Parts: sequence; C-alpha cells; structure tokens
Amino acid sequence: MAQGGPRNVVISSNNGLACNEIAMSYLERGRDTLDAVVAGVNSVEDDPNDDSVGYGGLPNEEGAVELDASVMHGPTRRCGAVAGLRHIKNPSKVAKLVMEQTDHCMLVGEGALRFARAWGFKEENLLTEKSRLAWMVWKQSLRDAGGHNNWTDGLDAPGKPSARLRGAFPGADEELLAYAWDRAANPPTGTINCLALNAKGEMSGVTTTSGLAWKIPGRIGDSPIIGAGLYVDQDVGAGGSTGRGEENIRVAGGHTVVENMRKGMSPTDACLDTLKRISRNYNDDKAKLAKFSITFYALRKDGVYGSASLWSSRTRDGKTAPQRFAVNTGGKSRMEDCAYLYASF
Ligand code: ASP
Repeated sequence: MAQGGPRNVVISSNNGLACNEIAMSYLERGRDTLDAVVAGVNSVEDDPNDDSVGYGGLPNEEGAVELDASVMHGPTRRCGAVAGLRHIKNPSKVAKLVMEQTDHCMLVGEGALRFARAWGFKEENLLTEKSRLAWMVWKQSLRDAGGHNNWTDGLDAPGKPSARLRGAFPGADEELLAYAWDRAANPPTGTINCLALNAKGEMSGVTTTSGLAWKIPGRIGDSPIIGAGLYVDQDVGAGGSTGRGEENIRVAGGHTVVENMRKGMSPTDACLDTLKRISRNYNDDKAKLAKFSITFYALRKDGVYGSASLWSSRTRDGKTAPQRFAVNTGGKSRMEDCAYLYASF
C-alpha cells in the first residue's frame, strides 16, 4: 500500500465500489468525512439487489427486515447507532442523527423507529419480492425430527414442492428460484463497512447491515456495536468488519484493530492479529472456524490501509485466491486483495 501523509482515501467491503466513488466525490468537494461515508453507503442501502443491507436485505425468521447501523465521527469523537430498526431503509442516516441530535449513543427497535419517525423518515416495506421468495423457500426447507414442516403441503398434496412454489410466485423465473434455493441453503453474510480519511487528517466510518439472514427477531449483530463493527480514533486510524458478528463482538474487533495500529502494527497486521483472537476462541480448530467467515478493514491516519479475512476464497478450479475489498484514492474505485489467516480447503 502506498505510504504518505493524510490524503483522501476511502475503503470498504467488496460491495463498496460505487459507494467509495460517491464518498470520494464528497471528500474532493471538501465535505465532512462522515457525510461522505454515509452518502456512500446510502447507495447500497437503497439498492434492492444487495440482499445484505437496507432495502431488499434478507429478513429475520418471521420475514421482517431488521436493520443495524453505526457511525463514528473522528473530528468530534462522537458516535451513534441504531439496532433492530424496521421499515426505514437508511439506518445509517438515523444512526448519524442519534449522534447529532441526542444525548445517547444507541437506540434500538421500537424506540429507534419512533425516533426516525419523529425526524420525518418515511416508513416503507423493506421486504422485496425476491427476499420474500428466499425467506419462503427457507421456511419450507426446515424440518422437525420427523421430517415434517407445517409450511409445506401435507402428504397428499399434488405436485412437487418446487412446482407449488412456482405457483405461489408466478413471476419468478428459473434464475430467481435458483437464487432463493441458494439463499435458503446457504444463508449469506453481508454488510457494508466504509472508512474515510481526508487530506486534513480527519476520519470517519460507518457500518450498515440487515444482519444475518433468518435471525431470531431482535438479534443484534456487531455492526451497530461501537468497538466491534466499527471504531474510529483519528489520532490512530479506523477499523471495521463484515461477516459473522457474534465472533467479532467477542473480540471487540473494530477497537482491537485500532489499538493494534496504536501499538505500531500495520493495518493489515492489525486485522490479522484480530482474526487470530477469533481463531484462538476456537483453539484454532479449523473445522469449527470453517463454519463462518469474517473480514476486518483498517485505515491508518497516514493513509495506509489494509484488510484481512479469516479464510481465503477459492477459484473455480480449486486454487487458493484472496478475498477482495474496495479502495478509492481518487477517480475510479478498484478492488484490492485482502490478506487471509487461513487458506480455505
Ligand atoms: N456482521 C453482520 C452481522 O453479524 C453480518 C455480515 O456482515 O454478514 O450482523
């Protein structure tokens, strides 16, 4: 990574190419770093095709979309967060208002919704037809010990389950049905974390997510937890995370990344060390660790940045390949390689 003094840099998870360009355009116009990252992630929250964030995010086990977000503003050293927020598609904006307009750091559930309502946010149905189909397929895939599921027809029902599902979703083509089966079988993780530095040395960050698909209603992940999904201290740098939040919370990952940089580690090493703590929680048992994925992102106050994932990915022909994260240092965003703790097998 290029070395140097403070400069405009935006990094984010791999779904952040467009987000970073928006954030960079804010930085180039001299706008505040937090305005920049929030505007960036709003584009992902608004995108129905990103099923891990905002509108179109996959719902909880009851089919309700519950969103979590946090923001942290380096110059004022303040933060805000919302968790379990329903019906509002830009939780990052609400988190920013919690920071700016309350004497609190975090609002959850009904209270967060009422707060958003009071500030004029529009309530919407965040469940897209695509997400609803994936949720329904997941519900129908569940089985009790006797192999039964109340959400599927009885033994005497005519036709195959897939044909009946097609009947219930007449607009769904093969591609959409394949998507729904895949999401039901492999509940995805996903989130966007975005960190920015400007040429004045100011830094901010945001993390926003719909959390784990099919979660228990009320489950809160790491994204809205300051010190886990996000941490910023512009005297040092910023850290954030995507992936299985439960593992991150247990190592206070965002804070750990920043404290590691404070102790002199490079951003990449700061992320790798945090992953080692997660690995340690399972006595480095790779069979257990293989059940989840998690990635950290780090941006230092001098513009050096890095990212590391627990696992590498694999190419179609089975070769080890790094995961990627999105970077913008001006102009077009690009993907760069994450370091990784373990090669996936
Ligand atoms: N970290 C998020 C959570 O646990 C999910 C994710 O990034 O996939 O809620």
